[in-house]
Amino acid sequence: RFKAIWITREEGAKVQNPAEIREIGLDDLMEGDVTVRVLKSTINYKDGLAVTGRGPVVRRFPMIPGIDLVGEVVSSTSGDFARGDMVLLNGYGVGEVHMGAYAGYARLKADWLIPLPKDLSADQAMAIGTAGYTAMLCVLALEAHGVTPQSGPVLVTGAAGGVGSVALAVLGRLGYEIVASTGRPEEATYLRNLGAAEIIDRAELSGSVRPLAKERWAGAIDVAGSTTLANVLSMTRYGGTVAACGLAAGMDLPTSVAPFILRGVTLAGIDSVMAPRPKRVEAYERLVRDLDMGLLAGMTTTIGFDDVIPHASAILDGKVRGRLVVDLG
Ligand code: NAP
Repeated sequence: RFKAIWITREEGAKVQNPAEIREIGLDDLMEGDVTVRVLKSTINYKDGLAVTGRGPVVRRFPMIPGIDLVGEVVSSTSGDFARGDMVLLNGYGVGEVHMGAYAGYARLKADWLIPLPKDLSADQAMAIGTAGYTAMLCVLALEAHGVTPQSGPVLVTGAAGGVGSVALAVLGRLGYEIVASTGRPEEATYLRNLGAAEIIDRAELSGSVRPLAKERWAGAIDVAGSTTLANVLSMTRYGGTVAACGLAAGMDLPTSVAPFILRGVTLAGIDSVMAPRPKRVEAYERLVRDLDMGLLAGMTTTIGFDDVIPHASAILDGKVRGRLVVDLG
């Protein structure tokens, strides 16, 4: 038997019960063709929502949360993976509708797994996690829309968070001039070390939205949504692109068509959960090439299994800097 974070909800109830730690067995897991011993996981914003129940992430009960893991295959009926293989999982509804990462073992579908990239350790893969891999999907979207270091400054919102920190490190290495927006001015040195050239207070982006405001950046990566994203769009230079991946400030988007029809701005939507395998492989290849592993280590804090529940609240409260790795060893 092994430990798992276990989430239940009473029949007919709207809110889930507080997450608890339970001893379970392999029979408590769901169907899948590959069983892995979970070695490492992480906590993303979405994991915070799932564990605390502060957002409707868990859609099947009981549930083991945790959307990312690195594990060692202990048994497999799939031709693609054999006992002893190291595998990486990000998303696919794991930790939402399929039993997830915060447990000693996970049983998963082979289609969801990729071999752990040979240039990444288990710790590095989880320091990246969905947050870091999404940051790279955002960078790829900016590139696909022609935003280059020569285009002008690029804005990153939620800069001290997980997506933001990895985005800074990658964009910095690629030679972009980065404007970092944060609610934590005390993290200025941290953000400059990751590559920020300019730091702005996130309050600058949460005021009332004008259809068009002064043009400030050629591209942006936004984790906040809501009024922040609306302001980011109205401050984007002619022909620029904004990659939107998050909702840390809210689900809504109180914007107008002005940035799109008068400045030719592109709003690129980013989803990591169902991203097809070739896109994932491309993102990891680029992370291996363009993410400084020293900077990654510097933005990462390792915690134990028993620390997951308290840190799930902390990440939603904006108190986690950079990335967390959960050691299930
Ligand atoms: P995180 O580590 O908690 O980072 C979020 C950061 O956003 C916070 O650290 C904070 O940065 C900033 N923030 C928090 N509340 C805010 C507010 N009210 N207004 C403006 N900024 C605020 O979370 P994460 O794991 O990086 O995820 C970031 C967002 O991306 C989440 O919404 C998550 O759901 C989303 N996401 C989406 C995908 C996808 O597939 N689309 C994948 C991964 C993540 P500062 O303290 O620096 O201001």
